[in-house]
Amino acid sequence: STTTTNPATNPATNPATNTSTPAAEPFRRRPFVGGNWKMNLLAAEVVALAQSIAAPGGGDGGAGGVDVVVFPPFPYLATVRPVLKPGVQLGGQDCSAEKQGAFTGQVGAAMLRDVGCASVLIGHSERRHGLGETDALLSRKIGQALDAGLVPVLCVGETLAERESGRAHEVIDSQLRGSLAGHAESALATLVVAYEPVWAIGTGRTATPDDAAEAHRTVRRTLKELYSARFSEQVRVIYGGSVNARNAAELLAREEIDGGLVGGASLVASDFAAIIAAASRRS
Ligand code: PEP
Repeated sequence: STTTTNPATNPATNPATNTSTPAAEPFRRRPFVGGNWKMNLLAAEVVALAQSIAAPGGGDGGAGGVDVVVFPPFPYLATVRPVLKPGVQLGGQDCSAEKQGAFTGQVGAAMLRDVGCASVLIGHSERRHGLGETDALLSRKIGQALDAGLVPVLCVGETLAERESGRAHEVIDSQLRGSLAGHAESALATLVVAYEPVWAIGTGRTATPDDAAEAHRTVRRTLKELYSARFSEQVRVIYGGSVNARNAAELLAREEIDGGLVGGASLVASDFAAIIAAASRRS
């Protein structure tokens, strides 16, 4: 099953090893669309939603292909896995900073991998701000994700107060530096960064394409300073924050925006399909 392919060694999902460049591809990076189901749905709804999602190109890395990943609540990962269509990948909403042991209630990265996950969200704002997760903790979670062979989807983004005081780019820069501390470029080949301004998440207030694109350039500038120009150009940077079926095309038409991390709209099959279709038009 493609859901068990190791993304770190799969050319379709690892830009570092993907040497095939489809002739008609206008943008170099393969689009990535994630559906973050958060703490929603029960088993019957989870199955119905999972069955409805298709990945253009079947996840095989060809033209029109999009990495489509769903992030169900932990209890439903094993429920979702067998009903996913070819190419649709499974992801965890979080992982522990510890490998294993006496950590009641936590879920280890190796467990996510074992149950069929290809990736894991790290540092979603609902965890940074709701649960006080720090960059130092997130750096350790990234280490666990990488050790387990999972693609880390690192979320960064400023609050409304930080944006209004002109500090958005400083916050993005410092979250990246803190969360990536201790990780070498060679280990981070599969990294995806999700720019998710806190004021746009679940609020219906979307960043303008210009504002999102500017923030994505900040992400790449920091990655270039931390690592290399080549690395900064390879990493997928996706936007999250009230992406929906109506605004996705405009956001995803921007060269800087390699895909989306979608909350509310990912719970509505037709809306999520429209967002995936918009991402597919990039490739
Ligand atoms: C998210 O969960 O990462 C998110 C961006 O949520 P929403 O699309 O609902 O704003």
